[in-house]
Amino acid sequence: APVLEVDTPGFDTRALQALDSAHYLHPFTDHGALRERGARVMVRGDGVYLWDSEGRKLIDGMSGLWCVNVGYGRASMTAAVARQMDTLPFYNSFFNTTNVPAVMLAAQLVQHAPPGFRHVFFTGSGSEANDTIVRMVWRYWQIMGQPQRQAIISRHNAYHGSTVAGASLGGMAGMHAQGALPIPGIHHIGQPSFAEHGRGMSEAEFGLRAAGWLEEKILELGPENVAAFIGEPVQGAGGVIIPPPTYWPEIQRICDKYGVLLVSDEVICGFGRLGTWFGCQLMGARPDLIAFAKGVSSGYVPLGGVLVGARVAHALVEKGGDFNHGFTYSGHPVACAAALENLRIMVDEGLVERVALETGPHLKAAFGSLATHPLVGHAESMGMTAGLNLVRRKAASMHDCEAFPPGLGVGMVCRAHMFDNGVIMRAVGDRMIVAPPLVMTTAQIDEMVERIRFCLDLTLEDVAQRGWL
Ligand code: PMP
Repeated sequence: APVLEVDTPGFDTRALQALDSAHYLHPFTDHGALRERGARVMVRGDGVYLWDSEGRKLIDGMSGLWCVNVGYGRASMTAAVARQMDTLPFYNSFFNTTNVPAVMLAAQLVQHAPPGFRHVFFTGSGSEANDTIVRMVWRYWQIMGQPQRQAIISRHNAYHGSTVAGASLGGMAGMHAQGALPIPGIHHIGQPSFAEHGRGMSEAEFGLRAAGWLEEKILELGPENVAAFIGEPVQGAGGVIIPPPTYWPEIQRICDKYGVLLVSDEVICGFGRLGTWFGCQLMGARPDLIAFAKGVSSGYVPLGGVLVGARVAHALVEKGGDFNHGFTYSGHPVACAAALENLRIMVDEGLVERVALETGPHLKAAFGSLATHPLVGHAESMGMTAGLNLVRRKAASMHDCEAFPPGLGVGMVCRAHMFDNGVIMRAVGDRMIVAPPLVMTTAQIDEMVERIRFCLDLTLEDVAQRGWL
Protein backbone atom coordinates (compact mmCIF):
# COMPACT_ATOMS: atom_id res chain seq x y z
CA ALA A 1 0.00 0.00 0.00
CA PRO A 2 1.28 3.53 -0.70
CA VAL A 3 2.72 5.47 2.22
CA LEU A 4 0.37 8.36 2.95
CA GLU A 5 1.66 9.56 6.29
CA VAL A 6 3.62 12.69 5.70
CA ASP A 7 6.43 12.21 8.18
CA THR A 8 7.03 8.61 7.17
CA PRO A 9 9.92 7.79 4.80
CA GLY A 10 8.68 6.93 1.32
CA PHE A 11 5.64 9.24 1.52
CA ASP A 12 3.97 8.76 -1.85
CA THR A 13 3.03 12.14 -3.34
CA ARG A 14 1.63 10.63 -6.55
CA ALA A 15 -0.68 8.30 -4.64
CA LEU A 16 -1.98 11.17 -2.53
CA GLN A 17 -2.55 13.29 -5.66
CA ALA A 18 -4.52 10.41 -7.20
CA LEU A 19 -6.73 10.17 -4.09
CA ASP A 20 -7.05 13.95 -4.10
CA SER A 21 -8.37 14.08 -7.64
CA ALA A 22 -10.58 11.06 -7.05
CA HIS A 23 -12.39 12.51 -4.02
CA TYR A 24 -11.53 16.05 -3.00
CA LEU A 25 -13.30 19.01 -4.63
CA HIS A 26 -11.21 22.16 -4.20
CA PRO A 27 -12.39 25.79 -4.00
CA PHE A 28 -12.31 27.78 -7.28
CA THR A 29 -10.69 24.93 -9.23
CA ASP A 30 -10.93 23.40 -12.69
CA HIS A 31 -10.74 19.78 -11.62
CA GLY A 32 -10.02 18.47 -15.09
CA ALA A 33 -6.90 20.63 -15.28
CA LEU A 34 -5.92 19.78 -11.71
CA ARG A 35 -6.11 16.05 -12.45
CA GLU A 36 -3.55 16.50 -15.24
CA ARG A 37 -1.10 18.35 -13.03
CA GLY A 38 -1.71 16.88 -9.59
CA ALA A 39 -2.19 19.12 -6.57
CA ARG A 40 0.81 20.42 -4.67
CA VAL A 41 0.87 18.81 -1.26
CA MET A 42 1.78 21.20 1.53
CA VAL A 43 3.06 19.38 4.56
CA ARG A 44 4.65 21.80 7.01
CA GLY A 45 5.02 25.44 7.92
CA ASP A 46 7.40 27.38 10.14
CA GLY A 47 7.46 31.17 10.43
CA VAL A 48 7.15 32.54 6.88
CA TYR A 49 8.22 29.29 5.20
CA LEU A 50 6.29 26.29 3.89
CA TRP A 51 7.48 22.86 2.74
CA ASP A 52 5.75 20.67 0.19
CA SER A 53 5.80 16.89 0.04
CA GLU A 54 8.64 16.91 -2.46
CA GLY A 55 10.88 18.79 -0.07
CA ARG A 56 10.55 22.18 -1.73
CA LYS A 57 10.94 25.10 0.69
CA LEU A 58 8.81 28.13 -0.17
CA ILE A 59 8.67 31.63 1.25
CA ASP A 60 4.96 32.31 1.67
CA GLY A 61 4.21 35.68 0.12
CA MET A 62 0.46 35.16 0.65
CA SER A 63 0.15 34.27 4.38
CA GLY A 64 -1.67 31.10 3.36
CA LEU A 65 -4.73 32.94 2.03
CA TRP A 66 -4.17 36.42 3.53
CA CYS A 67 -4.54 34.97 7.01
CA VAL A 68 -1.48 33.45 8.72
CA ASN A 69 -0.44 36.85 10.03
CA VAL A 70 1.60 35.59 13.00
CA GLY A 71 3.32 32.95 10.86
CA TYR A 72 3.27 29.16 10.96
CA GLY A 73 4.27 26.83 13.76
CA ARG A 74 3.43 28.94 16.80
CA ALA A 75 3.62 26.59 19.77
CA SER A 76 1.62 28.96 21.98
CA MET A 77 -1.29 28.81 19.52
CA THR A 78 -1.23 25.03 19.65
CA ALA A 79 -1.16 25.13 23.44
CA ALA A 80 -4.07 27.61 23.67
CA VAL A 81 -6.19 25.49 21.34
CA ALA A 82 -5.29 22.23 23.12
CA ARG A 83 -6.10 23.74 26.53
CA GLN A 84 -9.53 24.89 25.37
CA MET A 85 -10.22 21.56 23.64
CA ASP A 86 -9.49 19.81 26.93
CA THR A 87 -11.61 22.16 29.01
CA LEU A 88 -14.63 22.75 26.80
CA PRO A 89 -14.34 21.91 23.09
CA PHE A 90 -17.78 23.24 22.25
CA TYR A 91 -20.77 24.92 23.58
CA ASN A 92 -23.26 27.15 21.77
CA SER A 93 -24.25 30.71 22.60
CA PHE A 94 -27.98 30.27 21.95
CA PHE A 95 -30.62 29.98 24.71
CA ASN A 96 -29.11 32.49 27.17
CA THR A 97 -25.75 30.73 27.30
CA THR A 98 -22.21 31.96 26.81
CA ASN A 99 -18.60 30.79 27.17
CA VAL A 100 -15.46 32.37 28.58
CA PRO A 101 -13.25 32.69 25.46
CA ALA A 102 -16.06 34.22 23.37
CA VAL A 103 -16.78 36.88 26.01
CA MET A 104 -13.10 37.66 26.57
CA LEU A 105 -12.50 37.91 22.84
CA ALA A 106 -15.47 40.21 22.23
CA ALA A 107 -14.26 42.47 25.04
CA GLN A 108 -10.75 42.57 23.60
CA LEU A 109 -11.80 43.13 20.01
CA VAL A 110 -13.71 46.29 20.87
CA GLN A 111 -10.55 47.65 22.51
CA HIS A 112 -8.80 47.51 19.14
CA ALA A 113 -11.79 48.61 17.06
CA PRO A 114 -12.40 52.23 16.09
CA PRO A 115 -14.34 54.39 18.61
CA GLY A 116 -18.04 53.56 18.88
CA PHE A 117 -17.73 49.80 18.41
CA ARG A 118 -18.83 48.02 21.59
CA HIS A 119 -20.41 44.82 20.19
CA VAL A 120 -19.32 41.74 18.26
CA PHE A 121 -21.23 38.94 16.52
CA PHE A 122 -19.14 35.83 15.77
CA THR A 123 -19.30 33.64 12.67
CA GLY A 124 -17.20 30.84 11.25
CA SER A 125 -15.89 32.71 8.19
CA GLY A 126 -15.74 35.96 6.27
CA SER A 127 -18.57 34.88 3.99
CA GLU A 128 -20.82 34.26 6.98
CA ALA A 129 -19.78 37.64 8.38
CA ASN A 130 -21.02 39.35 5.22
CA ASP A 131 -24.20 37.28 5.15
CA THR A 132 -24.77 38.37 8.74
CA ILE A 133 -24.22 41.98 7.71
CA VAL A 134 -26.84 41.77 4.96
CA ARG A 135 -29.37 40.41 7.44
CA MET A 136 -28.40 42.99 10.09
CA VAL A 137 -28.65 45.87 7.65
CA TRP A 138 -32.12 44.82 6.52
CA ARG A 139 -33.24 44.27 10.13
CA TYR A 140 -31.80 47.65 11.17
CA TRP A 141 -33.89 49.54 8.64
CA GLN A 142 -36.97 47.53 9.59
CA ILE A 143 -36.50 48.50 13.24
CA MET A 144 -35.97 52.12 12.15
CA GLY A 145 -39.33 52.12 10.38
CA GLN A 146 -37.87 52.30 6.87
CA PRO A 147 -38.23 48.69 5.69
CA GLN A 148 -38.11 49.78 2.06
CA ARG A 149 -34.41 50.57 2.50
CA GLN A 150 -33.12 47.29 1.12
CA ALA A 151 -30.68 48.18 -1.65
CA ILE A 152 -27.05 47.47 -0.92
CA ILE A 153 -24.39 48.99 -3.13
CA SER A 154 -21.06 47.28 -3.70
CA ARG A 155 -18.38 47.40 -6.40
CA HIS A 156 -17.34 45.49 -9.48
CA ASN A 157 -14.38 43.20 -8.81
CA ALA A 158 -15.01 43.26 -5.05
CA TYR A 159 -14.73 39.99 -3.14
CA HIS A 160 -17.03 39.43 -0.19
CA GLY A 161 -17.27 35.63 -0.04
CA SER A 162 -18.76 32.57 -1.69
CA THR A 163 -22.12 32.14 0.02
CA VAL A 164 -25.16 33.36 -1.91
CA ALA A 165 -25.14 36.78 -0.21
CA GLY A 166 -21.34 37.01 -0.20
CA ALA A 167 -21.06 36.19 -3.90
CA SER A 168 -23.89 38.64 -4.64
CA LEU A 169 -22.19 41.45 -2.73
CA GLY A 170 -18.97 40.59 -4.50
CA GLY A 171 -18.48 41.97 -7.95
CA MET A 172 -16.86 38.93 -9.54
CA ALA A 173 -18.44 38.47 -12.96
CA GLY A 174 -17.22 34.87 -13.15
CA MET A 175 -19.14 34.04 -9.97
CA HIS A 176 -22.33 35.82 -11.01
CA ALA A 177 -22.23 34.10 -14.40
CA GLN A 178 -22.53 30.65 -12.83
CA GLY A 179 -26.14 31.10 -11.82
CA ALA A 180 -28.82 33.57 -10.75
CA LEU A 181 -26.55 36.05 -8.96
CA PRO A 182 -26.54 38.70 -7.66
CA ILE A 183 -29.71 38.27 -5.64
CA PRO A 184 -32.19 41.14 -6.09
CA GLY A 185 -31.40 44.43 -4.37
CA ILE A 186 -27.63 44.30 -4.70
CA HIS A 187 -26.06 46.83 -7.07
CA HIS A 188 -22.50 47.42 -8.21
CA ILE A 189 -20.52 50.52 -9.11
CA GLY A 190 -17.00 50.79 -10.57
CA GLN A 191 -13.94 50.02 -8.48
CA PRO A 192 -11.55 52.83 -7.55
CA SER A 193 -8.78 51.53 -9.78
CA PHE A 194 -6.69 54.43 -11.00
CA ALA A 195 -4.90 52.14 -13.47
CA GLU A 196 -8.17 50.99 -14.99
CA HIS A 197 -10.29 54.14 -14.97
CA GLY A 198 -8.04 57.10 -14.14
CA ARG A 199 -6.62 58.10 -17.54
CA GLY A 200 -6.36 61.87 -17.93
CA MET A 201 -6.97 62.62 -14.24
CA SER A 202 -4.78 63.15 -11.21
CA GLU A 203 -5.10 60.42 -8.59
CA ALA A 204 -6.84 62.84 -6.26
CA GLU A 205 -9.37 63.84 -8.91
CA PHE A 206 -9.96 60.21 -9.77
CA GLY A 207 -10.64 59.30 -6.13
CA LEU A 208 -13.43 61.88 -5.96
CA ARG A 209 -14.77 60.79 -9.34
CA ALA A 210 -14.90 57.11 -8.32
CA ALA A 211 -16.64 57.96 -5.04
CA GLY A 212 -19.07 60.05 -7.08
CA TRP A 213 -20.30 56.85 -8.73
CA LEU A 214 -21.79 55.96 -5.35
CA GLU A 215 -23.77 59.19 -5.20
CA GLU A 216 -25.00 58.65 -8.76
CA LYS A 217 -26.16 55.13 -7.89
CA ILE A 218 -27.90 56.32 -4.68
CA LEU A 219 -29.77 58.98 -6.65
CA GLU A 220 -30.68 56.48 -9.37
CA LEU A 221 -32.14 54.04 -6.83
CA GLY A 222 -33.69 56.79 -4.68
CA PRO A 223 -31.93 57.53 -1.37
CA GLU A 224 -35.00 56.36 0.54
CA ASN A 225 -34.40 52.83 -0.84
CA VAL A 226 -30.68 52.54 -0.14
CA ALA A 227 -29.67 50.60 2.96
CA ALA A 228 -25.88 50.37 2.84
CA PHE A 229 -22.64 50.61 0.91
CA ILE A 230 -19.97 47.93 1.36
CA GLY A 231 -16.31 48.02 0.35
CA GLU A 232 -12.91 46.58 1.18
CA PRO A 233 -10.50 49.37 2.25
CA VAL A 234 -8.01 47.88 -0.22
CA GLN A 235 -9.55 45.32 -2.60
CA GLY A 236 -7.66 42.11 -1.96
CA ALA A 237 -8.73 39.22 -4.17
CA GLY A 238 -9.54 41.75 -6.90
CA GLY A 239 -5.80 42.36 -7.18
CA VAL A 240 -4.66 44.64 -4.31
CA ILE A 241 -6.45 47.69 -5.70
CA ILE A 242 -5.30 50.62 -3.55
CA PRO A 243 -7.74 53.55 -3.81
CA PRO A 244 -6.55 57.16 -4.03
CA PRO A 245 -6.45 58.90 -0.60
CA THR A 246 -9.41 61.08 -1.59
CA TYR A 247 -11.72 58.10 -2.14
CA TRP A 248 -12.83 56.88 1.29
CA PRO A 249 -13.38 60.30 2.90
CA GLU A 250 -15.66 61.15 -0.03
CA ILE A 251 -17.48 57.80 0.30
CA GLN A 252 -18.00 58.66 3.98
CA ARG A 253 -19.36 62.11 3.12
CA ILE A 254 -21.83 60.63 0.63
CA CYS A 255 -23.04 57.92 3.04
CA ASP A 256 -23.53 60.58 5.73
CA LYS A 257 -25.40 62.85 3.34
CA TYR A 258 -28.00 60.19 2.50
CA GLY A 259 -28.04 58.34 5.84
CA VAL A 260 -26.72 55.19 4.16
CA LEU A 261 -24.94 52.66 6.41
CA LEU A 262 -21.25 52.23 5.63
CA VAL A 263 -19.80 48.72 5.84
CA SER A 264 -16.07 48.05 5.79
CA ASP A 265 -15.14 44.51 4.79
CA GLU A 266 -11.95 44.07 6.79
CA VAL A 267 -11.56 40.33 6.25
CA ILE A 268 -8.17 41.06 4.68
CA CYS A 269 -7.35 44.57 5.89
CA GLY A 270 -8.27 43.95 9.54
CA PHE A 271 -5.70 42.95 12.16
CA GLY A 272 -2.72 44.90 11.01
CA ARG A 273 -2.42 44.19 7.29
CA LEU A 274 -2.18 47.92 6.46
CA GLY A 275 -0.35 48.95 9.64
CA THR A 276 -3.49 49.82 11.59
CA TRP A 277 -5.79 47.46 13.47
CA PHE A 278 -8.46 48.09 10.84
CA GLY A 279 -8.00 49.44 7.34
CA CYS A 280 -10.79 52.01 7.68
CA GLN A 281 -8.68 53.77 10.33
CA LEU A 282 -6.02 54.43 7.73
CA MET A 283 -8.50 55.34 5.00
CA GLY A 284 -10.39 58.03 6.88
CA ALA A 285 -13.73 56.22 7.03
CA ARG A 286 -16.03 55.69 10.03
CA PRO A 287 -18.00 52.55 9.16
CA ASP A 288 -21.14 51.42 10.96
CA LEU A 289 -20.30 47.72 10.55
CA ILE A 290 -17.02 45.88 10.09
CA ALA A 291 -16.68 42.33 8.72
CA PHE A 292 -13.61 40.42 9.89
CA ALA A 293 -12.14 36.89 9.69
CA LYS A 294 -8.73 35.52 8.60
CA GLY A 295 -6.22 37.55 10.68
CA VAL A 296 -8.38 37.44 13.82
CA SER A 297 -7.13 33.88 14.40
CA SER A 298 -4.27 33.92 11.87
CA GLY A 299 -6.20 31.12 10.18
CA TYR A 300 -5.17 28.53 12.79
CA VAL A 301 -8.85 27.82 13.45
CA PRO A 302 -11.75 29.19 11.34
CA LEU A 303 -13.31 32.34 12.82
CA GLY A 304 -15.03 35.43 11.53
CA GLY A 305 -17.45 38.02 12.76
CA VAL A 306 -19.03 41.43 12.63
CA LEU A 307 -18.08 44.44 14.73
CA VAL A 308 -21.28 46.39 15.27
CA GLY A 309 -21.05 50.15 15.69
CA ALA A 310 -23.20 52.29 17.97
CA ARG A 311 -25.84 53.19 15.42
CA VAL A 312 -26.79 49.62 14.51
CA ALA A 313 -26.13 48.22 17.99
CA HIS A 314 -28.52 50.73 19.53
CA ALA A 315 -31.33 49.57 17.25
CA LEU A 316 -30.59 45.85 17.51
CA VAL A 317 -29.84 45.71 21.22
CA GLU A 318 -32.11 48.39 22.68
CA LYS A 319 -35.10 48.27 20.36
CA GLY A 320 -35.06 45.16 18.19
CA GLY A 321 -35.89 42.25 20.48
CA ASP A 322 -34.98 38.90 18.97
CA PHE A 323 -32.67 38.97 15.95
CA ASN A 324 -33.42 35.60 14.37
CA HIS A 325 -29.95 34.80 13.14
CA GLY A 326 -26.99 32.71 14.31
CA PHE A 327 -24.68 29.81 13.64
CA THR A 328 -23.89 26.65 15.58
CA TYR A 329 -20.31 27.88 15.63
CA SER A 330 -21.02 31.51 16.62
CA GLY A 331 -18.56 32.13 19.45
CA HIS A 332 -16.91 28.70 19.15
CA PRO A 333 -14.78 28.44 22.29
CA VAL A 334 -11.77 26.83 20.57
CA ALA A 335 -11.74 29.39 17.75
CA CYS A 336 -12.08 32.23 20.26
CA ALA A 337 -9.25 30.79 22.40
CA ALA A 338 -7.04 30.71 19.30
CA ALA A 339 -7.96 34.32 18.51
CA LEU A 340 -7.19 35.45 22.06
CA GLU A 341 -3.72 33.94 21.83
CA ASN A 342 -3.30 35.44 18.35
CA LEU A 343 -4.17 38.90 19.71
CA ARG A 344 -1.76 38.42 22.60
CA ILE A 345 1.03 37.66 20.12
CA MET A 346 0.11 40.66 17.97
CA VAL A 347 0.16 43.02 20.95
CA ASP A 348 3.25 41.57 22.67
CA GLU A 349 5.26 41.59 19.45
CA GLY A 350 3.95 44.99 18.38
CA LEU A 351 3.05 43.60 14.96
CA VAL A 352 0.69 46.40 13.94
CA GLU A 353 3.28 49.05 14.77
CA ARG A 354 5.98 47.05 13.03
CA VAL A 355 3.95 47.02 9.81
CA ALA A 356 3.34 50.77 10.09
CA LEU A 357 6.89 51.79 10.94
CA GLU A 358 9.25 49.09 9.72
CA THR A 359 8.13 46.22 7.51
CA GLY A 360 5.46 48.10 5.54
CA PRO A 361 7.84 50.90 4.51
CA HIS A 362 10.53 48.30 3.77
CA LEU A 363 8.16 46.33 1.54
CA LYS A 364 7.18 49.56 -0.24
CA ALA A 365 10.80 50.36 -1.09
CA ALA A 366 11.86 46.81 -1.97
CA PHE A 367 8.75 45.91 -3.96
CA GLY A 368 8.69 49.36 -5.57
CA SER A 369 12.17 48.70 -6.95
CA LEU A 370 10.62 45.99 -9.16
CA ALA A 371 8.92 48.75 -11.17
CA THR A 372 12.15 49.19 -13.19
CA HIS A 373 11.90 45.60 -14.48
CA PRO A 374 11.11 45.49 -18.22
CA LEU A 375 8.04 43.31 -17.61
CA VAL A 376 6.54 45.50 -14.88
CA GLY A 377 4.19 48.37 -15.77
CA HIS A 378 3.75 49.65 -12.25
CA ALA A 379 4.16 48.34 -8.72
CA GLU A 380 2.59 49.62 -5.51
CA SER A 381 2.06 48.58 -1.94
CA MET A 382 0.33 49.55 1.27
CA GLY A 383 1.34 48.08 4.61
CA MET A 384 2.06 44.40 4.08
CA THR A 385 0.34 43.94 0.75
CA ALA A 386 1.56 44.81 -2.73
CA GLY A 387 0.87 44.28 -6.41
CA LEU A 388 2.53 44.75 -9.77
CA ASN A 389 1.24 44.63 -13.35
CA LEU A 390 2.94 42.49 -15.98
CA VAL A 391 2.93 44.39 -19.29
CA ARG A 392 4.09 43.75 -22.81
CA ARG A 393 5.45 47.28 -23.33
CA LYS A 394 6.35 49.71 -20.59
CA ALA A 395 5.57 53.42 -20.79
CA ALA A 396 6.20 56.43 -18.59
CA SER A 397 2.55 56.52 -17.48
CA MET A 398 0.73 53.41 -16.27
CA HIS A 399 -2.10 54.37 -18.60
CA ASP A 400 0.13 54.10 -21.66
CA CYS A 401 1.61 50.66 -20.92
CA GLU A 402 0.59 47.95 -23.39
CA ALA A 403 -1.03 44.96 -21.71
CA PHE A 404 -0.62 41.38 -22.92
CA PRO A 405 -3.60 40.18 -24.96
CA PRO A 406 -6.17 38.68 -22.61
CA GLY A 407 -6.16 34.92 -22.54
CA LEU A 408 -2.40 34.36 -22.83
CA GLY A 409 -2.26 33.82 -19.08
CA VAL A 410 1.08 35.53 -18.48
CA GLY A 411 0.23 35.86 -14.78
CA MET A 412 -0.17 32.09 -14.46
CA VAL A 413 3.11 31.52 -16.31
CA CYS A 414 4.79 33.89 -13.88
CA ARG A 415 3.17 32.24 -10.87
CA ALA A 416 4.49 28.84 -11.94
CA HIS A 417 8.05 30.21 -12.15
CA MET A 418 7.61 31.69 -8.69
CA PHE A 419 6.45 28.42 -7.21
CA ASP A 420 9.23 26.43 -8.91
CA ASN A 421 11.74 28.85 -7.44
CA GLY A 422 10.49 28.91 -3.89
CA VAL A 423 8.20 31.91 -3.60
CA ILE A 424 4.42 31.94 -3.35
CA MET A 425 2.81 34.85 -5.15
CA ARG A 426 -0.75 35.05 -6.44
CA ALA A 427 -1.77 35.95 -10.00
CA VAL A 428 -4.94 37.97 -10.59
CA GLY A 429 -5.01 38.07 -14.37
CA ASP A 430 -1.65 39.62 -15.22
CA ARG A 431 -1.35 41.31 -11.85
CA MET A 432 0.99 39.62 -9.36
CA ILE A 433 0.25 40.21 -5.69
CA VAL A 434 1.67 39.48 -2.25
CA ALA A 435 0.39 39.76 1.30
CA PRO A 436 3.09 38.21 3.48
CA PRO A 437 2.78 37.20 7.13
CA LEU A 438 3.09 40.27 9.34
CA VAL A 439 6.05 38.62 11.10
CA MET A 440 8.14 38.66 7.92
CA THR A 441 11.42 40.43 8.77
CA THR A 442 13.04 43.06 6.57
CA ALA A 443 15.73 40.51 5.61
CA GLN A 444 13.04 38.02 4.61
CA ILE A 445 11.26 40.75 2.60
CA ASP A 446 14.53 41.30 0.72
CA GLU A 447 14.86 37.55 0.15
CA MET A 448 11.28 37.38 -1.17
CA VAL A 449 11.69 40.38 -3.47
CA GLU A 450 15.00 39.08 -4.87
CA ARG A 451 13.36 35.75 -5.67
CA ILE A 452 10.49 37.62 -7.31
CA ARG A 453 12.95 39.66 -9.41
CA PHE A 454 14.74 36.46 -10.51
CA CYS A 455 11.40 34.87 -11.46
CA LEU A 456 10.37 37.98 -13.40
CA ASP A 457 13.57 37.49 -15.42
CA LEU A 458 12.60 33.86 -16.05
CA THR A 459 9.09 34.92 -17.04
CA LEU A 460 10.49 37.51 -19.45
CA GLU A 461 12.68 34.87 -21.13
CA ASP A 462 9.75 32.47 -21.21
CA VAL A 463 7.28 34.89 -22.83
CA ALA A 464 9.97 35.96 -25.33
CA GLN A 465 10.49 32.31 -26.30
CA ARG A 466 6.77 31.82 -26.70
CA GLY A 467 6.77 34.79 -29.09
CA TRP A 468 4.45 36.84 -26.90
CA LEU A 469 6.53 40.03 -26.76
N1 PMP B 1 -14.30 39.31 2.33
C1 PMP B 1 -13.06 39.49 1.86
C2 PMP B 1 -12.56 40.89 1.67
C3 PMP B 1 -12.25 38.39 1.58
O1 PMP B 1 -11.02 38.58 1.09
C4 PMP B 1 -12.75 37.10 1.81
C5 PMP B 1 -11.91 35.86 1.56
N2 PMP B 1 -10.85 35.97 0.73
C6 PMP B 1 -14.05 36.97 2.28
C7 PMP B 1 -14.80 38.09 2.54
C8 PMP B 1 -14.66 35.61 2.50
O2 PMP B 1 -14.09 35.00 3.59
P1 PMP B 1 -14.18 33.40 3.76
O3 PMP B 1 -13.40 32.80 2.66
O4 PMP B 1 -13.59 33.18 5.13
O5 PMP B 1 -15.60 33.04 3.73
